[in-house]
Amino acid sequence: MLTRPSDALKLILNEVSFLSQETISLSKALGRYLSQSLVAPIFLPPFDNSAMDGFAVRCGDINVATSDRPISLKVVGMLKAGDDVEGMRRAMPLQQGCAVRIMTGAPIPAGTDAVIPFEETLTPQGRGGHETCTIPKPVRIGENIRKAGEDVQKGTCVLDKGVRLTPRNMALLAALGFSEVSVTRLPQVALFSTGNELKALGSVLEPGQIYDSNGPTLSLALQELGLKSKILSTPQDTLQDLLNTFQAASEAEVILTMGAVSAGDFDLIPQALEKLGAKVLFHKLAIKPGKPLLFARWEHRFLFCLPGNPVSSLIVFDRFVRPALLKMMGASLLFRQHYTALALHDIKATVGKEDYLRARITWKDGTFFAQLAGSQGSAHLAPLAESHALLVVPESISQIREGEKVEFEFWSETL
Ligand code: AMP
Ligand code: MG
Repeated sequence: MLTRPSDALKLILNEVSFLSQETISLSKALGRYLSQSLVAPIFLPPFDNSAMDGFAVRCGDINVATSDRPISLKVVGMLKAGDDVEGMRRAMPLQQGCAVRIMTGAPIPAGTDAVIPFEETLTPQGRGGHETCTIPKPVRIGENIRKAGEDVQKGTCVLDKGVRLTPRNMALLAALGFSEVSVTRLPQVALFSTGNELKALGSVLEPGQIYDSNGPTLSLALQELGLKSKILSTPQDTLQDLLNTFQAASEAEVILTMGAVSAGDFDLIPQALEKLGAKVLFHKLAIKPGKPLLFARWEHRFLFCLPGNPVSSLIVFDRFVRPALLKMMGASLLFRQHYTALALHDIKATVGKEDYLRARITWKDGTFFAQLAGSQGSAHLAPLAESHALLVVPESISQIREGEKVEFEFWSETL
């Protein structure tokens, strides 16, 4: 009896939980997940400041200015970014008919209520030295002033627990002065391929041998999630060698194996797990490709035993292992976004199994279109390499006709 993929995912996500938290420097936190929501400790910006290089003025002084009858104001000082706002307030109480030359980011002097950019005045823009500025039009109160707190109010929640840290949201954290953040710690992952036929990259193939592509591929898929992994050398297809390799991997919290989990005479992973005393939670899913996937617990460790066919192993990693790892890493979003495309041709699917088909996606006039990326054989890597997305076809469907809707998820948010 094959386990349904939705039940398998429920089971996996019930077993795994968030790991503990750790505090790390912001500079090391890219791609990590916040273990606590973050509250702004200061206002952003912290003080009223100029959005332009120009003159800080009192609007009331120039509200009748026109290009025919411009108004000249006396320039009584200069403020630049970094000047002490309080000191400047004391030093520069602005009188009627006066203005202050001001640079972007400088604090707004007391008494002024707008900034007029240099290019909107009739005053030549040469550096300094002008005792007056001539203004040809009125300005609105607050114009070109960035008010304290207009971006973020002190005390408000700026990022939620479970958010992934990116250069965009880390810009906000840096501006708010967070030098450190609390994130969920990363799981320790080990992986190994199995198969007498496999040779490591860099060696010369003898007849009957192939390169181990799954080991490097899965390690890269883990890297894409922000995880380093320990890659163990490939055991021979013997029970003893498998057991030794599991022991060598036993420091890890998550162990991924590839191959030897199907129905062949040398598919000895299930036997090895029995010997280890691991508890198998499911083996074999109603999916294509990737049917042989096995999920087990070995004491506190989680074991994902992936099929050996390279396309299958990467697909089941993406759909079943990735959400589990993301949950452990503290992520609030565990699944890829689903989109809908229109099929560019008839697409066959397997009744009784959820199909994952490698596809190329195009975008035209506001609609996604999908076409299969070549052969769907689970050993065919060339179509995988040129695919953008996986079409996900429910188990009840035998065919999608040209022009019908099909659901898909992109391999990556950034193509
Ligand atoms: P298995 O699941 O061990 O029966 O392997 C299924 C198919 O996948 C066989 O053709 C294997 O040679 C191939 N295979 C298994 N492991 C790997 C691997 N690490 N890299 C590339 N191909 C593999
Ligand atoms: Mg094998």
